[in-house]
Amino acid sequence: MAVVYIGLGSNLADPRAQVEQGIGELAALDGARLLACSALYASAPVGPSGQPDYVNAVVALESRRSPADLLAALQGIERRHGRRRDGARWGPRTLDLDILLYGRLETVVPGLVLPHPQIRHRAFVLVPLADIAPLDLPVPGQGVLGELLRACPMQGVARLADAPATLGVRPASPLSCC
Ligand code: ATP
Ligand code: CA
Ligand code: CA
Repeated sequence: MAVVYIGLGSNLADPRAQVEQGIGELAALDGARLLACSALYASAPVGPSGQPDYVNAVVALESRRSPADLLAALQGIERRHGRRRDGARWGPRTLDLDILLYGRLETVVPGLVLPHPQIRHRAFVLVPLADIAPLDLPVPGQGVLGELLRACPMQGVARLADAPATLGVRPASPLSCC
């Protein structure tokens, strides 16, 4: 059993609805239990210019799935949201689900790097993560969450809405474990 943090992002086809539905689907995954959900944030795009702003959130799950099996399940959800992978790197997408952290696991295997290597560079990940995780959360190989937040430029991320209310989890309730 591990506490897993997953980042969600969308900037196509009603991004807020994509993210809210994605959170609901993560909450309903077999072998996983939703522990916490951040607020929703609007963020400026990283990658090709001219694409719409993103909606982002982060959830914490308790997972009995292996990392590879969880990633496969996330990719299934992305596909059901019409995610296509034929465009430019970091181009617009209906739904992106990244495994940010899988407990304290550090691994690099084909198709899966943990923790996600870009966490420390991304305010749109760090800000929602800090809604639901303690500032001393270790991000193996990168630092602890509070340090990463202090070091990362915060421009371009704005709170959009509370966490979806129907999930039965309280927003902004940092977990005491990792
Ligand atoms: P980034 O990973 O920089 O956020 P992206 O989300 O746009 O970029 P994708 O096209 O969604 O990238 O995914 C590319 C590949 O990344 C996937 O095929 C997946 O196997 C791999 N990958 C490696 N580590 C992870 C991870 N921790 N979470 C999700 N996907 C990962
Ligand atoms: Ca991503
Ligand atoms: Ca991804």
